[in-house]
Amino acid sequence: MTSPSILDVLEEIITTVVEPGATDVDTNGEFPRAALTALGEAGLLGLLSSTDVGGLGGTLGEAAHVVRRLATTCGSTAMVVCMHYSAVVVIEQHGSEETRRAIASGNHLSTLAFSETGSRSHFWAPIGTATASGDEVVLDASKSWITSAEEADSYVWTSRPTAADGGASLWLVPADASGLKVAGPFDGLGLRGNGSSPVVATDVRIPLANGLGDDGAGLDIALGVVLPTFQILNASCSLGVMDAAVAKTIQHVTTARFAHLDQSLADQPVVRQHLARMKNLADAASCLVDDAVDALATGRDDAPLRMLQSKGVAGATALEVVDLAMRVGGGAAFRKDIGIERHFRDARASAVMAPTVDALQEFIGRALCGMPLFG
Ligand SMILES: Cc1cc2nc3c(=O)[nH]c(=O)nc-3n(C[C@H](O)[C@H](O)[C@H](O)COP(=O)(O)OP(=O)(O)OC[C@H]3O[C@@H](n4cnc5c(N)ncnc54)[C@H](O)[C@@H]3O)c2cc1C
Repeated sequence: MTSPSILDVLEEIITTVVEPGATDVDTNGEFPRAALTALGEAGLLGLLSSTDVGGLGGTLGEAAHVVRRLATTCGSTAMVVCMHYSAVVVIEQHGSEETRRAIASGNHLSTLAFSETGSRSHFWAPIGTATASGDEVVLDASKSWITSAEEADSYVWTSRPTAADGGASLWLVPADASGLKVAGPFDGLGLRGNGSSPVVATDVRIPLANGLGDDGAGLDIALGVVLPTFQILNASCSLGVMDAAVAKTIQHVTTARFAHLDQSLADQPVVRQHLARMKNLADAASCLVDDAVDALATGRDDAPLRMLQSKGVAGATALEVVDLAMRVGGGAAFRKDIGIERHFRDARASAVMAPTVDALQEFIGRALCGMPLFG
């Protein structure tokens, strides 16, 4: 892990900023700006930035810890940070030093603009175009979801290549570029503060130099650089949501009482059975994600498989765990008394974020059968 002081600072920010704001973020669909400012000032938005540009030079495992801890308190904040880190890893490899320094200093929030209205969750098949025009490129696209759409400073953007029919290219698009139109505030079931709105690009001109990697190499970069980070961090978001659901369920069942029996809910054997299943599922998913992080860090042969499994398993498991939390919590959970239903809603986002849990199942099956991921 990074130096203990950074982790202490993270806990301090969670206690003093993230936790007090979490209910408003969810209820009002407010972007967690105060939390992002605090994380930026502490250097945590530059966790994956190289020390060469003033960042913390942290690892994917450390980023996973940050996202998981944030998600125990505020899923929206965790997802904003997950998408930022997923963008940072490609900017670190292919972006300008100026942007990298701004990110490292905590003054620049980025995100991924992959999903499109036309190809939906199939982010590997962008339909939006990039047309070379002198030393500029002109982008036209309809992006269906961009986390932090109105709050980010830049988008890591996919398009078709300028010079070929198939494949993809990646661009760093300033969020204030002329021709970008954010559809309006996000009003979703869960992660209500993550600001994930559609964005339409009409004749957006950016310098050709804003290309992230070679024209046409975008798919290789998206799958080789962005996907491992996104998969682990999105899975970590699910793990954090499960941590919170298990903790709040324990708190509830050990304190809620049947006065006429002089017993707590925990005295009901069925409640303990469900609770044990929640903990078993959550811990099994956690072990798998930890193993995926280790596989990626050490370059193990099974790293690609573990990477695909991480989000698939954590996302699907979170759905089961929060469902059990709602069941054990009864009417108290249904009525928001014990704070579980927010996690129930937040957990659902991971499953539908691309690659979706179902698409990952398909990818894993194909990988096991020695088939290419995309058929
Ligand atoms: C909170 C939130 C934040 C997001 N943030 C971002 C962001 O920052 N950047 C970004 O680019 N995108 C983002 N997304 C979009 C996300 O990554 C997906 O693209 C989107 O949720 C897919 O929704 P859809 O209706 O287009 O799904 P569809 O593609 O219509 O899928 C519908 C169903 O079909 C299934 N399905 C489709 N294809 C397959 C397949 N090949 N195999 C198996 N099942 C399949 C899916 O699993 C799903 O159950 C975000 C989404 C959410 C919910």
